[in-house]
Amino acid sequence: MRVLITGGAGFLGSHLCDRFLAEGHTVIAMDNLITGNTRNIAHLAGNQNFSFIKHDTTNYIYINGALDAVLHFASPASPIDYLKLPIQTLKVGALGTHNALGLALAKKARFLIASTSEIYGDPLEHPQKESYAGNVDPIGPRGVYDEAKRYAEAITMAYHNVHGVDTKIVRIFNTYGPRMRLADGRVVPNFIAQALRGEPLTVYGDGAQTRSFQYVSDLIEGLYRLLNSDYNQPVNIGNPTEMTILEFAEAVNVITGNKAGIIFKDERIKGDPQTRQPDITRARTILGWEPKVNLHEGLEKTVAYFREVV
Ligand code: UDP
Repeated sequence: MRVLITGGAGFLGSHLCDRFLAEGHTVIAMDNLITGNTRNIAHLAGNQNFSFIKHDTTNYIYINGALDAVLHFASPASPIDYLKLPIQTLKVGALGTHNALGLALAKKARFLIASTSEIYGDPLEHPQKESYAGNVDPIGPRGVYDEAKRYAEAITMAYHNVHGVDTKIVRIFNTYGPRMRLADGRVVPNFIAQALRGEPLTVYGDGAQTRSFQYVSDLIEGLYRLLNSDYNQPVNIGNPTEMTILEFAEAVNVITGNKAGIIFKDERIKGDPQTRQPDITRARTILGWEPKVNLHEGLEKTVAYFREVV
């Protein structure tokens, strides 16, 4: 296959590039580098099956030649990024998705949109099944991301229903691993960086809010299977092992041997989802997929990466 991966220089996009190249495909990575970084794909320079185009997908996307798949992964994804870049976040989810779908239609390519557990907002159903419609405040601080992704799902289904594009929607739950930005602001790089510096970990709020963390290789496997399936409805991909942020902080301190403990800070952003856990029955049934990497193993690998960059 010849595939276009938007956001290809980002955390997830760069791991996708690696996977598609390893499977023998040709990859074009596209990124405007506002949150992505060419460091993440530097190891691919010189690979004749790989090319990079610096481009913002909110503008018309031109690709010469055939394409078999378009994977739209471009978007700020960390809450501090999308608060700093609210309009870019809305545009890449709306205009960027529209352009990427138009390209997929023109090239008769499959299309995969990176959606998110954030479309469930601060969920009133737990764990979250794909049938749950969510609890999102459109003008709340997270609305720029949540509504952009909800729109992205809506236009993706419309292109499937109206134009027959073979579309896939993945709802990605909290994912971590090497190549996350150190200053990305999300809990995994924050805690690991603090721990490696011997500083106390900053827990926002009382730390009773929960998340379910998946290691990046599990996500990539799920994405690869979904793209190659004939399924067009949304699929949650995440690790159902749920824990409080306080428990997560303790786990990071144990793994890194950090003795500086934990400090509590005010809630970072109003409307921080209080619980989050994927129901992965659909991924298990349709894709035969489930996560394989436990938190200890995933954190060890991630800590090893951050030791090089802290
Ligand atoms: N969080 C925290 N300390 C930090 C960064 C984040 O306690 O230094 C909390 C944050 O308030 C949220 C959870 O960790 O409840 C996950 O935050 P993250 O930014 O990783 O992503 P989210 O799941 O909120 O999109």
